[in-house]
Amino acid sequence: MSPVTSTISGYPRIGPDRELKRAVEDHWAGRVDAARLQEIAAGLRERTWRELSAAGLTTVPSNTFSLYDHVLDTIVMVGAIPERFAGLAEPYFTMARGDEGVAPLEMTKWFDTNYHYLVPELPPETRFRLDWSKPLAEYAQAKALGIETRPVLLGPLSFLLLAKPVDLGLLDGLVEVYAELLERLAAAGVAEVQLDEPVLAADRSERELAALRRAYDRLGDLPSRPHLLVSTYFGEIGPALAILAGTRVEAIGLDFVAGPGNLEALAAIGGLPDKTLVAGVVDGRNVWRADQTKALSLCAALSGLADRLVVGTSCSLLHVPLDLDAETGLDPGVRARLAFAKQKVAEVVAIGAALNGSPAPAGPPPAHPIVNARVRARLDALRDPATRLPHAQRLAIQRRSLGLPPLATTTIGSFPQTADVRHARAALRAGTVTPAEYDDRMRAEIARVIALQEEIGLDVLVHGEPERNDMVQYFAELLDGYAVTEHGWVQSYGSRCVRPPILHGDVSRPEPMTVTWATYAQSLTRKPVKGMLTGPVTMLAWSFVRDDQPLPDTARQVALALRDEIHDLEAAGIQIIQVDEPALRELLPLRSADREPYLAWAVAAFRLATGGVADRTQIHTHMCYSEFGEIVGAIGDLDADVSTVEAARSRMELLDDLRTSGFGRGIGPGVWDIHSPRVPSTEELTTALRRAASSVDATLLWVNPDCGLKTRDYPETEASLRNMVTAAQRVRAEI
Ligand code: GLN
Ligand code: ZN
Repeated sequence: MSPVTSTISGYPRIGPDRELKRAVEDHWAGRVDAARLQEIAAGLRERTWRELSAAGLTTVPSNTFSLYDHVLDTIVMVGAIPERFAGLAEPYFTMARGDEGVAPLEMTKWFDTNYHYLVPELPPETRFRLDWSKPLAEYAQAKALGIETRPVLLGPLSFLLLAKPVDLGLLDGLVEVYAELLERLAAAGVAEVQLDEPVLAADRSERELAALRRAYDRLGDLPSRPHLLVSTYFGEIGPALAILAGTRVEAIGLDFVAGPGNLEALAAIGGLPDKTLVAGVVDGRNVWRADQTKALSLCAALSGLADRLVVGTSCSLLHVPLDLDAETGLDPGVRARLAFAKQKVAEVVAIGAALNGSPAPAGPPPAHPIVNARVRARLDALRDPATRLPHAQRLAIQRRSLGLPPLATTTIGSFPQTADVRHARAALRAGTVTPAEYDDRMRAEIARVIALQEEIGLDVLVHGEPERNDMVQYFAELLDGYAVTEHGWVQSYGSRCVRPPILHGDVSRPEPMTVTWATYAQSLTRKPVKGMLTGPVTMLAWSFVRDDQPLPDTARQVALALRDEIHDLEAAGIQIIQVDEPALRELLPLRSADREPYLAWAVAAFRLATGGVADRTQIHTHMCYSEFGEIVGAIGDLDADVSTVEAARSRMELLDDLRTSGFGRGIGPGVWDIHSPRVPSTEELTTALRRAASSVDATLLWVNPDCGLKTRDYPETEASLRNMVTAAQRVRAEI
């Protein structure tokens, strides 16, 4: 058997200090010209290649870098730039961001990760044309440094299936462009190319699978081409495995972390006797150190199932932070369990070396997550967490106690985060203001926001969330079992990075988290102030979560902490409590068979958090996405009294779903899109509300924007809220 080699499928692009973010944003602001931007990008690539080859990987990928997004790069590479961007000075960034005259491409989530890509627009008349410059230039740049690389491309099937509309009729033309590119790359000396086909981790129709076979038969048969590695990740690839095994591609990449069943599937087809298997055994999406013993025994099993074995990551390391060494403040027990991108590369190399007979590195002994026996005992004892009356009866009780008008007006929680508020937070962190001074500033801000809402005439007020850096991190910092990083940035989209907290042990709430802010706000007004929390599913979805116990168990622990917080808010006189679940739909599994079980535990966690309140306490929830119909059943099952949802961008399409689903609960279809600074007129808001009022009972209808106002400025926020309140009053008078 030939020696085992090692590689990774991709690496973070943003640089150790988010240099790429700054360079790109400076370029947009006109402070960095295009040539300088390219120089900075080249420097980042060089650094990455040198680091990866010095770490001892057998092969290093190239073309995994991007100035904005790798799907956008592919759009350029196959010549699928939509008409409206032709002739612009910078079509690349304009496709990503739009400008005054031109709408950008739509952006959406990359599978079930928190990375977002730009959606290719492929009208039926699309004619592809190869632009090989980027993959070729990056390969040549690395080669000039003496580093031989494997260019990584998004595969043709994935590109087509991620596009809008999906048109398999375009496949043959697209594959010809890839064929031409492969020939070019071969001529430039490229020995191997990686074609990523992550779409194979989701359900695929017979037609799509036939398209897969056609594409790789054609590419496999090319007379002069590099070796082909078809890389799949994010799950099990099912029937696609046998199809790929039957083509001439030399190597197949499988994810054994998100897709443990790939092992059995591989054995079932008799392995890949004439191919290389790139085994994704080191988790590319989570931050835990690999269990070397487990990885080694898995690789031992796999080595009998292929001609050659390459140790790899389960997917690109794009989804984890760059370097654990940059963290200085982490608890040593937690830190000992972590590996970021750089450390994962070392793990891949070490596993490969161990398989080739070098003694496995000892590494620190495995640390164990914090166990909280009290939390576990309480969860075991909580058999029937929901004790409320049916929602229709609760509604009657709440109507009497809250005394709200029909078409009640409210907001989603946050008000604009002024520079002042952000400075106060930074000053607290830097220690230049005392906690007491910081509290005073926050109170002043809350008082201002309450007075403004009173003056505008809103019915249900919020405290405005000035104390929150982020809706997940704020709670992660206050809960036990969670850690936050200083530099653990991960690209979310373009130049936007997030720093997900790390949920590492049993979660518990040492003390109330929001009660003083909420009660202070309530003390300033006779109108109800909504308490504001982030739901259990969103707390998991936007964090790195321990993988040593099932996700539903972790969700229940977070839910229990929230249940206690809700109890305390209620006891402190807060009558309405909103539990945001904007990520409920994000965690939907890629395969439809897995969706019901997921929704069952997600809904149960929400109900565990919220189900213990009195019937007169009104529970709200909020989600901000448009495909409401897809999970309207689950949203009903949450059993919240009121749900506020995105509707403005999707033109109130949810009204039809509401009518047909018999939702029967309070609903606030967001009447104004807060993602743009545009102020909606009273007239258009009135029209939207009239329409809503013709589909939904007026006592169930709420009037609100479609998300929090945190990223907006005050002038447009105030003007829009005034128009919204006026429109609500008008429509109220008509019913
Ligand atoms: N309450 C949060 C806010 O208003 C909700 C944010 C969200 O849904 N993403 O900021
Ligand atoms: Zn939202």
